[in-house]
Amino acid sequence: MLYTSTRNNSLRVSAAQAIAQGISEEGGLFVPCEIPEFTLSDIEKMVNMPYIDRAKTILKTFLTDFTEEELTYCVEGAYGGNKFTSEKIAPVVNVNGNENILELWHGPTCAFKDMALQLLPYLMTVSAKKTVDGKEIVILVATSGDTGKAALEGFKDVENTRILVFYPVDGVSPMQKLQMTTQEGENVAVCAIKGNFDDAQTAVKAIFTNDEIKAQLAKKDMMFSSANSINWGRLVPQIVYYFSAYADMVEQGRIELGDEINVVVPTGNFGNILAGYYAKLMGVPIKKLICASNSNNILTDFLTKGEYNRNRTFYTTTSPSMDILISSNLERLLYHISGNDDTLVKELMSQLNECGVYKVSEEMLGEIRHYFDAGFADEYQVRKTIQTQFNDYKCLLDPHTAVAVNVYYSYVKRTDDDVPTVIDSTASPFKFPKSVYSAVFDGTEVKMTEFETIDEINEVLGVEIPEPIKALKNKKVRFTNVCSKEDMSEMVFNLLNL
Ligand SMILES: *Cc1c(COP(=O)(O)O)cnc(C)c1O
Repeated sequence: MLYTSTRNNSLRVSAAQAIAQGISEEGGLFVPCEIPEFTLSDIEKMVNMPYIDRAKTILKTFLTDFTEEELTYCVEGAYGGNKFTSEKIAPVVNVNGNENILELWHGPTCAFKDMALQLLPYLMTVSAKKTVDGKEIVILVATSGDTGKAALEGFKDVENTRILVFYPVDGVSPMQKLQMTTQEGENVAVCAIKGNFDDAQTAVKAIFTNDEIKAQLAKKDMMFSSANSINWGRLVPQIVYYFSAYADMVEQGRIELGDEINVVVPTGNFGNILAGYYAKLMGVPIKKLICASNSNNILTDFLTKGEYNRNRTFYTTTSPSMDILISSNLERLLYHISGNDDTLVKELMSQLNECGVYKVSEEMLGEIRHYFDAGFADEYQVRKTIQTQFNDYKCLLDPHTAVAVNVYYSYVKRTDDDVPTVIDSTASPFKFPKSVYSAVFDGTEVKMTEFETIDEINEVLGVEIPEPIKALKNKKVRFTNVCSKEDMSEMVFNLLNL
């Protein structure tokens, strides 16, 4: 299996190269040159198979340059032991009727980013050995919350890697900040920066591409890499859980092998739902991929009308991981839907860069509509959905998942579609205790601290607190560094002892 770039069709690289490099030189994203196909009988074999084996079955079709031993090492390192608090890793839970929730937050940081970021460090170190042997990889991350913590937890104490995370000093939730500043591990460092997320992101990008810094690193046999969701190594682990969810639906007797399901995904950067698209192309009987957005509904507009226009108001919502106006992974969809037209993708991406807007042809829109449906939920609808799902089914949703559930209900109302549906649940409600608690109690202001609210949710609502959140209470804060954005490169040198 070889990979090419969305902006240069003639390029060919191995999986290891794509993962170690992260992004193609001309700025395009790596995509597989062909899509592996699974028959229903292949999928039937996954029923009653442990998650680790399901993962190996999928990964080995994409990572053909990895040996069987390497794949086993990677997958068992990521999902084995007791890193996940559910034996199923990503269990499917029936809520009511056709509504099923795929719980993707049983990993060490209680967000779905763990599904990929527990595996990525293994894929990356094995890839590096094959392509740039002997170098120490330095992962630089700018985060608005979830990615930073999940990357720290994934890379902690991984041989031949270091990880440095920068977060905006006032731009993350109190729980997220505590999760990062108490991070354990010998190869990790965390620093707050005076500025917002964009400042952190811009400064990290500048450090990445600074030749002088790169040369200094090279002298010490180090190189930078990135753990964000444009890396193929973060996308491929996500394809697995769509196969796994389908196998579980069969296992639970909710569908017969071959029956169609719908999938609803709370979407930000378009990584998660794109993995669902690959799963459908590979043979999972998915009828519609339903893209759920919050008030930042740029994707709803694009997937229904064909125009992507980022010249619009940006809203800060209770589902911050979906507050995004540029969904990077959409580029991969455009490439596949256009029949691998790299010239067109390049043109659309430069229009987006220069004018903030592009439009696709009627033909392409038709193709997109064949696979995708889309909708959005505003803040009022999110609160109401959290309240109703709890009152009716004792199912406590985090705000991101609530967006998806609300969009699912509107979809059913609009289409009368009665196909069994899997809704991705992307975070534990305990990561957003105040929003969730307030929603259940009709919008009343929460005056308690974060941990008081967590205990209250546990005692009053009777919902179990995940172990990693409980453990946070007694952890020591290790990182108190704050620096200005101008001093970030200096900070990188200090933290790496250069
Ligand atoms: C990152 C994230 C999302 C968005 O996922 P994408 O792959 O970027 O579309 C949704 N919910 C939560 C909780 C997240 O952390």
